Amino acid sequence: MTRETKGKAETQDQPGIKIWTDEKVMKLVAEMLAGNIADIRPQIDFTTELGFSYAAAEKVLGLKSDQLVAVLEALDRADILKKRFFDRLLRCPQCRSLNLRPTTHCPKCGSGNIARGRILEHIVCKYAGLEEDFVTKGRYTCPKCQQELKTVGVDYQSLGMLYKCRDCDETFRLPQIKWQCLKCFSVTAEDKITEIDIYYYRFNEEKRSWLEFELKPKLKLIDFLKQRGYKVTENAAVKGRSGAEHKIDILATRDDGIITYAIAIGIKVAGDRIELGEIFDFDDKAYDIGIHDKVLVVVPELGREAEKFASQQRIKVLEVRDLETVLAGGAPVAIEGIKREPFEFKSKSRMIDYLVNCGYEIKENAKVKGKSGADHSIDILATKDDGIVTHHIAIGILQSEQPVDLSSVFDFDDKAYDIGIMDKVLVALPGLTNEARQFARRQKIKVFEVATLETSG
Ligand SMILES: [Zn+2]
Ligand SMILES: [Zn+2]
Ligand SMILES: [Zn+2]
Repeated sequence: MTRETKGKAETQDQPGIKIWTDEKVMKLVAEMLAGNIADIRPQIDFTTELGFSYAAAEKVLGLKSDQLVAVLEALDRADILKKRFFDRLLRCPQCRSLNLRPTTHCPKCGSGNIARGRILEHIVCKYAGLEEDFVTKGRYTCPKCQQELKTVGVDYQSLGMLYKCRDCDETFRLPQIKWQCLKCFSVTAEDKITEIDIYYYRFNEEKRSWLEFELKPKLKLIDFLKQRGYKVTENAAVKGRSGAEHKIDILATRDDGIITYAIAIGIKVAGDRIELGEIFDFDDKAYDIGIHDKVLVVVPELGREAEKFASQQRIKVLEVRDLETVLAGGAPVAIEGIKREPFEFKSKSRMIDYLVNCGYEIKENAKVKGKSGADHSIDILATKDDGIVTHHIAIGILQSEQPVDLSSVFDFDDKAYDIGIMDKVLVALPGLTNEARQFARRQKIKVFEVATLETSG
């Protein structure tokens, strides 16, 4: 059979339906979530081009049948809808008409001149034919040899109900079926006819909580990030240090001039609790990519083990209700005021101004206790809480007569590590030694090598 299943046809015709950005798709999903549209069932309707339609859904979405089918198929592939077989239509391969009529034919000569009835065989001459052709004047007479048939089982027998071809005399149990098109009148053999399976579609209830999250809080979260100056990539593919490519649900990056931040946001939705394995996987990915700001949005909540692990790994966990609080709080930062040109170190005071402008709180000579218990002093500690994560930048100012050496940079890096700050900036007067510079690069310390800290005027 030439099977034209709709799924295959659609992937060829319309490969580009992106369900999350397609307004019509999202409207349909929203209507199904709200319970306004239940099953999407086809109606057979030969007046339409496809031969069937999903009238109710087409009306709600303002789509033509073939467009709607493409939407439904995309949702089926995304597992949001589940499709089930509804019916099969036959189509004329010549003119695509659905208006076909079955015709029966002799399997030997192809003639349509066949009849069904009880078949008698005259054992004497081997002639077999329809009973009605034997009947003459109330008796059975063989139409071939003209002898009278006398005793059933002796000189003749019944072969049962069969077909007989009136053109070639063949008797057969099943005729060959062909389809005649009532539009173009072509006749097509049964195995050459085009079959179309049509489906009805049902909302996949297992996806409900995930969809409810995707359609509302997630969009709000993305807006929230954008309003705070982040560039947001959904389903970002990022190559890790291991060489593996990872998918991050939401990657938010912001270039603050001095430091570029990245937040990896993972979204975990489960029917019940989210277990350790999934969190572990997310943490692993973030580590491999080298992102240390990790946020996990969970629906509905973490299991106990997972929670413990998340706190150990400094993963900020937001349940949907936390997320709503976060999103509701805090006015968006006016990003218009922030300079977009790359930061250039002119003086310490200008750097501080720049950071303040970017929304940072500044503490000079900040005293901070490290994980080791030791007290550290940071020349400039810049802190910014943008609702989702709190960013810290440790800024060290190192000056000496000679280029600043490795051990000073090492000490600074060590201090930042003990405090748990990953974003490090070093201002070095009058510069760094080669090995200090190499070490700084390896430790991802942003370095400004300058001649003076303050310029006059
Ligand atoms: Zn025949
Ligand atoms: Zn005979
Ligand atoms: Zn036709």
